[in-house]
Amino acid sequence: MSLHSCRLCGAALTRTFVDLGMSPLCESYIAADRLDAPETFYPLHVRICDSCLLVQLPAYVGGEEIFSDYAYFSSYSDSWVEHARRYAEEMIGLLRPTYVVPVHGEPQMQEAQARIAVARCGIDRGRIVIARNGDVIALSRDRCEIDDHVPVEVIEADGDGIPLEDPLSDPQSAR
Ligand SMILES: [Zn+2]
Repeated sequence: MSLHSCRLCGAALTRTFVDLGMSPLCESYIAADRLDAPETFYPLHVRICDSCLLVQLPAYVGGEEIFSDYAYFSSYSDSWVEHARRYAEEMIGLLRPTYVVPVHGEPQMQEAQARIAVARCGIDRGRIVIARNGDVIALSRDRCEIDDHVPVEVIEADGDGIPLEDPLSDPQSAR
């Protein structure tokens, strides 16, 4: 029996991808007055879905708990920015995409990916879309552009990664 189900297809998650033991929440810096307080650790046990092959971590806490005092900005790390630059160059060079839509990182990193796509790989700037949370992208063979925007918030999930409230249940945001 599996305690967790796939956040994409709902199948039971029974196969280990990598088990890295127990870990406290990421980027949760401990205040000086809490240095002697206990800290909660969670399984860093990555699983792969046998049905759809999505690699995933079960969600043990909601995003509100993780990101309410989140003091890490990846673009402040020179070595990480350099790694991301090399990775973006390599991937864009290998894939030669028709459109580029940076989907990870802070806005500065997404802009850097766009500059790489233009300068190093010859992607036309008009074929690069930098979207923000909630932007709806219309994508077809001949078109890739921001088409609309829907309001977004932090989605609180249960231990299986299932949203506690359906974000699309609001008629204002339903599409
Ligand atoms: Zn699945």
